[in-house]
Amino acid sequence: TDGMNAQDLAKILHRPAAEIVKKLFMLGVMVNQNQSLEKDTIEILAADYGIEAKEKVQEDITDLDRFFDVDNEDESHLVSRPPVVTVMGHVDHGKTTLLDNIRHSHITAQEAGGITQAIGAYQVKYNDQVITFLDTPGHAAFSEMRARGANITDITVLVVAADDGVMPQTIEAINHAKAAKTPIIVAVNKVDKPGANPDHVTEQLTEYGLIPEDWGGDTIFVKISAKFGKNIDELLDMILLQAEVMELKANPNRRAVGSVVEARLDQGRGPVATLLVQQGTLHVGDPIVVGNTFGRVRTMTNENGRRIKEATPSTPVEITGLNAVPEAGDRFAVFEDEKTARAAGEERAKRAQEEERARTSHVTLDNLFATM
Ligand code: GDP
Ligand code: MG
Repeated sequence: TDGMNAQDLAKILHRPAAEIVKKLFMLGVMVNQNQSLEKDTIEILAADYGIEAKEKVQEDITDLDRFFDVDNEDESHLVSRPPVVTVMGHVDHGKTTLLDNIRHSHITAQEAGGITQAIGAYQVKYNDQVITFLDTPGHAAFSEMRARGANITDITVLVVAADDGVMPQTIEAINHAKAAKTPIIVAVNKVDKPGANPDHVTEQLTEYGLIPEDWGGDTIFVKISAKFGKNIDELLDMILLQAEVMELKANPNRRAVGSVVEARLDQGRGPVATLLVQQGTLHVGDPIVVGNTFGRVRTMTNENGRRIKEATPSTPVEITGLNAVPEAGDRFAVFEDEKTARAAGEERAKRAQEEERARTSHVTLDNLFATM
């Protein structure tokens, strides 16, 4: 409304400008047709004509954050969603063995025999409830993803080998989980081994604020053997219990938003991205902006490589149809139409390039000064 005068108003209201000026005069505002009006004056005048004046807010189409604003979501639209779990811990403490064990012992009968895990995430059904597991992307990747704004994990399972104890990457994992504000469930692994000392591990972890309930704390500890499948069900029970306490919810009936788990360029299929849907439902054909790229969801497959048509909250899917390869931790949002998605994606790519240029030239200057 900035700079709007009586003439502009006359056009909008389909009244003669002279009439507007006269009305303004009666309201105690003395102006000619070309003088710009105060916002309040416009509002009062518009109200006199029975119109509610609203400032036109220029929407920034490149801003993906606005889609993630779920705090304003009507409570009645929300339904519970599966927890998203990341397994972290020191190298060789048994993360992969644990993920494999869970996956193989809880696949549905129809899938048995035919499973080849295609993507770095999967879902299991346990006690009629779904849990989403993300393959540990490596701690560095994890923190980089967080730096990009992706907060995709609800619960961290910290694997600590009972024969090795707390190691550097164990501490790193604790720090990541704390920074991401996700609750930690401790899986003390390899309890089958002769040299296993679970109590020592527990004692070590108390120094990092991870104290089991029977020691007066509130951290869940489960003693497992990932290799021999011991207490895995108990661990899953604890994950579901923790999830229940968290009351994880999402609205499946809106355009999808989420994050990139991983992405690569496939020789035949072009850019391929594993996405985690966090709100809404993603469909084949949806126009989408992913990080600094865009496209239309051409194909969508689940973790077993099966074609699916839609994906609800907490579901990991692999999609094709993007213009370029996004980065892990990038966020995505489905747009109302392909034209807007393209415009937003291209603008985001342009800005990213400019930022990159600014950064590299800055570095060059720094280097220059350093050598002087
Ligand atoms: P990651 O680096 O954390 O993914 O560790 P892996 O899952 O690759 O396991 C490292 C090694 O420990 C492998 O040789 C596993 O077979 C072994 N391992 C994992 N879990 C157990 C366990 O519960 N008991 C025993 N005895 N060995 C295990
Ligand atoms: Mg591994």
